[in-house]
Amino acid sequence: MKILVLNCGSSSIKYQVFDMRDESVMAKGVVERIGIEGSFLEHNAEISGKKTKIEEEVPDHNTGVGKVIEILQDEEYGVLKSIDDIKAVGHRVAHGGEAFPQSALVEDEEFKEIKDLSRLAPLHNPHNAAGIQVVRELLPSVPQVAVFDTSFHQSMPEKAYIYALPYEFYKEMGVRRYGFHGTSHKFVAQRAAREMGKAMEDLKIITAHLGNGASITAIDRGKSVDTSMGFTPLEGLAMGTRCGDIDPAIVPFLQKNRGWDAEKVENVMNKESGLLGISGISNDSRDVEEAAEEGNHRAQIAVDIFCYRVKKYIGAYAAAMGGLDAIVFTAGIGENSDIVRKEALEGLDFLGVKLDPGKNKARRKFAEISSPESRVKVFIVPTNEELVIARDTHELVNGSS
Ligand code: AMP
Repeated sequence: MKILVLNCGSSSIKYQVFDMRDESVMAKGVVERIGIEGSFLEHNAEISGKKTKIEEEVPDHNTGVGKVIEILQDEEYGVLKSIDDIKAVGHRVAHGGEAFPQSALVEDEEFKEIKDLSRLAPLHNPHNAAGIQVVRELLPSVPQVAVFDTSFHQSMPEKAYIYALPYEFYKEMGVRRYGFHGTSHKFVAQRAAREMGKAMEDLKIITAHLGNGASITAIDRGKSVDTSMGFTPLEGLAMGTRCGDIDPAIVPFLQKNRGWDAEKVENVMNKESGLLGISGISNDSRDVEEAAEEGNHRAQIAVDIFCYRVKKYIGAYAAAMGGLDAIVFTAGIGENSDIVRKEALEGLDFLGVKLDPGKNKARRKFAEISSPESRVKVFIVPTNEELVIARDTHELVNGSS
């Protein structure tokens, strides 16, 4: 069975085609700058090794998905004889609210719910829904599945997801912690458990998804019991451009002192803060780490703040779970930066965490990086959200036929 996985953002569509017989990737690519001058499609036919970049106007998502369907059947760069070979389409959807504790087949009712959830994720769900709509039009007989960033965290207890605000805010407006990156946290925790030769149900794991967006999750016996992102992906760790945890009183302070409206404050906290805001150099951790090594003080405190927050959350989550068996690092920074991993785990010997400096040099591949005497295992696990989407899609579509 061949499955197309789509991740539709505001101006981009990422895609992968999986052959589920062996879960291999047949093709992958991205349509970028949709609706903006200079749009292009970059396509990589994994099975033949042929790559191409097509620079063409892509005014909207409809045209974008159309181009993906076209290239997948292309004589030279295609990987399918006919688009009818695609038996299901899986979508990454940012917000599933409380309606979707699991991935779901998208029929009319689910589609409406996903669109309605745009009130909670106005920057993401409308584009995810647009992708579903386009596939409905272009491939009307193909079943579609939505896999949500929030679902895995629906197992959190009330004490972790209710904010200490008037309770009606939760009941009337849905103001609560939802958490994000759920597919990634689940995937890397499962892999770590497998490597330890244990069931998730027997383990307490902390997963640190450290990319441009970053979040950390406490997984107690297979269930997410707390996570650092909250009502939106702004809460928690310091990120590339997002501030993460701050005193909420800073918001009205800025509004009063700078005369900013809500939108301006939101923009600064989402796009001008984090590594970029502190260092004044870049949101890319490589640039910031390099500048720190060259002695730039602001870059050094940006790295220190980033790592210190990870460490604080590890301590908090070990306490919340009453123990810890493994820590997993994933995503761009988590998989690559030995500096961040080392600094975030420094001084955690009292918790039974001991890093092996040599093994910690590993990058972008699975590795156990704790020393043999470390009671808590530490792993690097490359994340693969697309594969989780393909697996859930496969399971749901096969289960329904
Ligand atoms: P992601 O959002 O998962 O794609 O991660 C993006 C982040 O990973 C950026 O901050 C990159 O700078 C960072 N990253 C990627 N490769 C490396 C590397 N070799 N060393 C440090 N950070 C890296």
